[in-house]
Amino acid sequence: MKSKQWRRHINMHRMNQGYEMASDKLRNDSFHLAGLVLGSVNVIGGALLTLYILILKADPGWIDYLIPFVMQIVGYGTVWLRRTDVKDEMKVRLYSLNYVIIPLHLYTFLNDGADPFWALTFLYVTLAFALQNRMLVLTSVVASFVGLILIMVLSSAETIAVVDREDHLLRLILFAIFVAYVAWGLKVGKEKETLLYDYMNRAENTAYEDPQLAMPNQLDFNLYVDYQLPETELIVAKIEMNEYEAIYNVLGHRKCEALLHVFKQRIIELLADVAHVAKGEGGQFLVAFKADESNQEEQRLATLPETLSGMYVLESFDYMLSVSIGVTKSESDGRHSDELMRNAQFALNHARTLGMNQLIYCTPELKRSSLKTIRLSDGLHRAYLDDEFHLVYQPQLNLRSGQMSGVEALVRWEHPELGSVPPGVFIEVAEKNGFIVKLGTWILRKACAEIQTLNSSLANPLRLAVNVSVIQVEQPDFVETVLAALEETGMSAELLEIELTERAFLNHDEANLMKIQKLQSHGIQVAIDDFGTGYSSFDVLKKVRVDTIKVPREFVDYVDENVDNQHILETILSMANRFGVTCLAEGIERKEENDFLVRQGGEEVQGYYYARPVALEDVQRQLFTLKS
Ligand code: C2E
Ligand code: CA
Repeated sequence: MKSKQWRRHINMHRMNQGYEMASDKLRNDSFHLAGLVLGSVNVIGGALLTLYILILKADPGWIDYLIPFVMQIVGYGTVWLRRTDVKDEMKVRLYSLNYVIIPLHLYTFLNDGADPFWALTFLYVTLAFALQNRMLVLTSVVASFVGLILIMVLSSAETIAVVDREDHLLRLILFAIFVAYVAWGLKVGKEKETLLYDYMNRAENTAYEDPQLAMPNQLDFNLYVDYQLPETELIVAKIEMNEYEAIYNVLGHRKCEALLHVFKQRIIELLADVAHVAKGEGGQFLVAFKADESNQEEQRLATLPETLSGMYVLESFDYMLSVSIGVTKSESDGRHSDELMRNAQFALNHARTLGMNQLIYCTPELKRSSLKTIRLSDGLHRAYLDDEFHLVYQPQLNLRSGQMSGVEALVRWEHPELGSVPPGVFIEVAEKNGFIVKLGTWILRKACAEIQTLNSSLANPLRLAVNVSVIQVEQPDFVETVLAALEETGMSAELLEIELTERAFLNHDEANLMKIQKLQSHGIQVAIDDFGTGYSSFDVLKKVRVDTIKVPREFVDYVDENVDNQHILETILSMANRFGVTCLAEGIERKEENDFLVRQGGEEVQGYYYARPVALEDVQRQLFTLKS
């Protein structure tokens, strides 16, 4: 799109927002000031001329008075016009009438012989006006009055006409000086004005520009998309540097900016001739182009991951980058910038989860599942307030004693419309939006309170396992929160086991590790959930003295038939034995799986074969009916 046309659209937007542009205001102010100066020049000049004619001119005729009269009328008219509601465009035309009148001033002098004092005073006023300098205008007006008084006091027949009436040369010089002054003044004024407008424009455009990369920003991009959409089908892409925050932290501001510049350059080289490119938030860039039947642009878009990923060699450093790209089309995904940006974001989120250098198009399914996640995210807080969460407990059995040794607390959400929402769906959402901290604390307190009540009626109290998210561990008051839950409920620390995944141990500053050790020092037990599914399961065992490792269902599944699982399970069991750690196999569903574990000397088990997660009231019943 032509930039002028686009600029006009942007200005329209500004005006629609009720935003008065500083450059417009400045232009208006200076134009009204020019009106005031022009008017004043004619009013004062007319007055002086009248006085001159009255006092000094021999035999003045009606035409002599007409000139200063017209000057005054136009001058007063201009000063008055400034305050009226006449349209600005009209005012400009009327103000310019003064230009036509001002030379009449000179006419009198040129015709009657130039009294140098008068002529210079007049030039001074004109110069002041030409330079649009208020101070100069003021002093020139004062000087004119002083000059007038002096002339009236000192004038005599001999001193009036210092210059001979016939001195055409001087008149010519005066006239030339006048023209040169005005021309020069106007030029300087114009230059100043241009500079100022340019500066103001730039200052105003920062609202639509990314100052760091000197390119359009998100607001400009949204306007562009909405401007194009009614008539054009657009393809919109959100391009993101993966791990931008980490890059920023590692490289620092200056290097990160240099990297962004090169990144931007690569996008521009590939797409700028066909697309509108803008800077989004953080490490994001936005691209919009017209959907073409030949799909040529899309083909170019498809090469973006390859173009943008890989090694960036900059002057003082190198950096390896990967990207994620989300793409959406207006024809199928929306007719408004908000909608398109949201859908591109859904696609981008999905691209991120798929790993490095993925370019993903938004599909109706993707949109549906993303919207569901958002609805869940919104619903979590409400659900908390409305008491829609409750806990169920899944028994854990000790194979050697044949007794129920403990229970794992599992949270449930009874959604009024969606029904029972499984934790697998909403825990992840709660972790992303931080709600898990509040929910996790509630779960901990509730589980401790309920199991403490149950335990008080049992000869052999049950161990309570509670799943704890890494986000909870990362909270500065995590240790205090856990200890407070025990204190409030009277639950014994030795009976509480917190289940953590490996992620909790990956923190580089080891702060999490220290917190976990602190809890252990109070007697709280620690279990590693989903042992063997991460990258560093064995590393964790070196870092912290865990009490239990939980073998996930995927290794237990058909272990009686699946040789791979047999090897894994045997290895984990013997390793647990050597480390003196309890091994609990999860997800036992079949008798054969259970028998295999018994044969291999497994210690603890949990699974549907024994019991599903049940409400608190049912746990007690299960104590006596559990298979053994
Ligand atoms: P998890 O900690 O691995 O929990 C075990 C999951 O396996 C539970 O699913 C349980 O119902 C299910 N399960 C148990 N035995 C069997 C079996 O024999 N067969 C099959 N197919 N499944 C079995 P649930 O309750 O849906 O929980 C899923 C995940 O949600 C949990 O995995 C845990 O990571 C998370 N979660 C659940 N409750 C909480 C909680 O209170 N706090 C936190 N942070 N996470 C929780
Ligand atoms: Ca668990």
